[in-house]
Amino acid sequence: MKTVTHWIGGKPFEDASGASDTWAPVTDPATGEVTARVAMAGADEAGSAVAAAKEAYATWRTSPLAHRIAILFRYRALLDARRDDIAALITAEQGKVHADALAEVARGVEIVELACGLGMALKGDTSTEVSSRVDVASVRQSLGVFVGISPFNFPAMISMWMFPMAIACGNTFIHKPSSKAPSASVLLAELTAEAGVPDGVLNILHGGKVAVDALLDHPDVAGVSFVGSTPVARHVYSRATASGKRVQALGGAKNHMLVLPDADLDAAADAAVSAAYGSAGQRCMAISVVVAVGSAGDALVSRIAERAAKITIGPGNDPASEMGPLVTKAHRDKVADYVAGAGAQGADVVLDGRGFTVEGLENGYWLGITLLDKVSTDSDAYQNEIFGPVLCVVRAQTYEEAMQIINGCPYGNASAIFTRDGGAARRFQLEVEAGMVGVNLPQPVPAGYHSFGGWKDSAFGDHRMYGNEAVHFYTRGKVITSHWPDL
Ligand code: NAD
Repeated sequence: MKTVTHWIGGKPFEDASGASDTWAPVTDPATGEVTARVAMAGADEAGSAVAAAKEAYATWRTSPLAHRIAILFRYRALLDARRDDIAALITAEQGKVHADALAEVARGVEIVELACGLGMALKGDTSTEVSSRVDVASVRQSLGVFVGISPFNFPAMISMWMFPMAIACGNTFIHKPSSKAPSASVLLAELTAEAGVPDGVLNILHGGKVAVDALLDHPDVAGVSFVGSTPVARHVYSRATASGKRVQALGGAKNHMLVLPDADLDAAADAAVSAAYGSAGQRCMAISVVVAVGSAGDALVSRIAERAAKITIGPGNDPASEMGPLVTKAHRDKVADYVAGAGAQGADVVLDGRGFTVEGLENGYWLGITLLDKVSTDSDAYQNEIFGPVLCVVRAQTYEEAMQIINGCPYGNASAIFTRDGGAARRFQLEVEAGMVGVNLPQPVPAGYHSFGGWKDSAFGDHRMYGNEAVHFYTRGKVITSHWPDL
C-alpha cells in the first residue's frame, strides 16, 4: 500500500526509529477502498519540522529577492507541466471530478503568479528631509517560521494560497494538510525542491489535532494561517494568539443567494445549480441557501429542480461525471441525516439524494442531488453548515425580509444577489454582512490580486488570504529614521 509521509528538510521524513509510528488510512471516496496510509505526527515530528524550517530561515531570509522570484517562476512552470498529475491526486483522495480538480490547481497557480510579482508589493516608502538631513524609510521584513493548516476540500489550492507568498516574503513554512487528502501537498513540495527551493524552506507535516496543537504552541513558530471549519478556526485562533503568534483563521460558511422577482430566473437557476452542486457542495463558496423573494419562489424552484435532476453523478476520474462522491462515509451519513431532519422539520423535499448509488461502486460515498424548499430558518438544515449537495430554498416576501434572514446568519463568507435592478444591487452590496459579494454571480471568488476572506463566524483575525493582505500578513513593518551629516 502507498505510504504518505512527512516532507521535512527537503526529503521524506524518517526519524531515528525509521519513520512515523502512527498512521491513518486514506480512502478513495468513489470506491470506499483504502488506498494509502498517511503518517500522523506527534509533538516530536512537529518539533523536527519546526527545527528544519528554523534552520533554513537563517539563510533564506537574506537570500536576494530576485533569487526567490526566479525560483518561483521555475515553480510556476513545473506546476503547469504537472497540473494533470496534481489534479489526479486530488480526485483520487477528495473525490471531485477531474475538471474541478484542474480548476482548483489553476486557482492555486494564480497565487504563485502573484508571488512572482512580489517585487512591486514588497517595495517600501521613503521620505527625504523630514527634518534637517533626516530621512525616513518604511520597510517590511519576514518574521520566521509560518504554519499553514488546510482542509480536505481544496488539497492543492489552499496550500498554494499560503506558502508561495509566505516564502516569497522570506519566511519558511510548514504545511499541515488534511489527512483525508494528503498526497497533493507532497507533490507540491517535491516540485518546490525541483524548482530550487532550498531544503527546509517548505515542509509538510501530516496529522490531526496533536500535530496542530504542537505547532500552535511551539515557541519558534511566528504565525499561523488556517482554513477549515469554524469550531477548529476558533480553537486555532485563540490558542495561537494566546502565545503571541499572528493568526488568520478562515472558518465555515452558509452562503446565501438572494433572488428578486425581476431577475433573469433562467440565469439564476443555472447559477444556483452550478454553485450548489459543484464539487458535491463541498466548497466554502458553495451556495447553500437561495432566498427567493415573492413571485420568484415557485418559478425558480421548478427551474432549479429541472436542471439539477440532469446532473451526472459518478467517479471523478470518469470524464462523463459532473459531480463526484462526498469525502468520507461519516460525512455522507451526516449530510443524509440533515436531509431526513429537514423533511421532518417541515421542508418540502423536492429532490431527495438519499439512496443514490453508482452501479459497480456501491461502496462509494454517494449522495444524490437534494433540493429542499420552504426551509424554516429554525430548522437544523438551515442552522448548520451541511457541506454537501443539498440546496435549501427559503421564501421571503420582501427584499427587507430577505436581508434580515441573510444578515441574521452567523456566517458571513460570501453572498450574492440576482436582479436586473441596479439600485437594489447597490443597496445589497452596501448592506450585506459578508466578506465577498456577488452581483449576478453566485460564487464571487476574488481574483488573486484582490484578497479572500469572510466576516463574522467565517473568519477570525484581521488579515485576509492572498493579494496585498498576504504581504502584510507574512511581513512586519519597520520604520528607519536616519541622520547623516554633510560631507
Ligand atoms: P476541519 O476544520 O475539520 O479541518 C481543517 C484542518 O484542521 C485539517 O488540517 C485538520 O486536520 C485540522 N483539524 C481538524 N480538527 C482539529 C482539531 N480539533 N484541532 C486542531 N486541528 C484540527 O475542516 P475540513 O472538514 O477539513 O474542511 C471543511 C471545512 O472547511 C468546512 O467548514 C468549510 O466551510 C471550511 N472551508 C473554509 C474555507 C474558507 O475559505 N473560509 C475554505 C475551504 C473550506
